[in-house]
Amino acid sequence: MQDKLLTELGEKLVAGSLTDEALLARTSENPSVKILPEANVVKIGGQSFIDRGRKAVFPLMDEIVENLPNHKMILGTGAGTRARHAYSVGLDLGLPTGVLSVLGTFVSMQNARMIHYLLAKHGIPFIEPVQFPQLPLYLAERQACVFFGMPPYTFWQPNPKIGRIPPNRTDTGAYLISEVFAAKSMIYVKDENGLYSADPKKDKNAKFIPKITLDELDAMNLQDVVVERSVLEVMRNAENRRSIQVINGLVPGNLTKALNGEHVGTIINADA
Ligand code: ADP
Ligand code: MG
Repeated sequence: MQDKLLTELGEKLVAGSLTDEALLARTSENPSVKILPEANVVKIGGQSFIDRGRKAVFPLMDEIVENLPNHKMILGTGAGTRARHAYSVGLDLGLPTGVLSVLGTFVSMQNARMIHYLLAKHGIPFIEPVQFPQLPLYLAERQACVFFGMPPYTFWQPNPKIGRIPPNRTDTGAYLISEVFAAKSMIYVKDENGLYSADPKKDKNAKFIPKITLDELDAMNLQDVVVERSVLEVMRNAENRRSIQVINGLVPGNLTKALNGEHVGTIINADA
């Protein structure tokens, strides 16, 4: 009976070892389904953007609304300064990474709620991870929805190599959504033009980098980067989302350009 029901690979998987590399290599022989290929994932920075208040946020909301007729957007939010404060109190109290991850989740949710209420009159819903099955309907009906960028790892958040801050935060959560749904793009809306050779807030001579590969970025061994390092790590194994774009959302028109597929900001590529 099994012979008839299972593919040859299926038989091997059922009977064999899931740590056998030769067998694992065969599991990606079929291309993965492109679930939401028309959707753009747009992460709105916490510290870099939402924390700046109406001066930054209102023009971006207008630009999002202008783009609704032409582009589907899954809008993720960062956590920002309040999360850093929560982490600092948590660290002072000796709380572990998994608990800090819970705290960060609630702050990114606060930001998602705020963005959601600004867009509510356009019929754009806020969804939690449990509501992701409704995402396709919301995109079909309203073109956009808001979620909190923090991946729902909570207690299962792995410890970082150094220290105790959750390594997979909102940049990573947004990225993983773009990867799993094979979204059209992963756009990070921040407060700098993109990646520089150093943090432009600290180094006036930092050089802008319009385009770079993961290998080139590794070779530069930068002291700090514009996205969470774990995005760069998980991107290496991506089946779908093999590039990301970081734009300055404080410049009107940048999001529209990025949604239209134009090269604005920095594009980081997994491939050469
Ligand atoms: P978000 O709030 O979107 O998570 P972050 O504040 O965590 O954004 O990260 C974006 C910030 O990273 C920028 O505002 C910039 O000051 C800083 N940064 C650090 N290193 C770099 C770099 N090499 N290039 C550009 N920006 C950098
Ligand atoms: Mg950040």
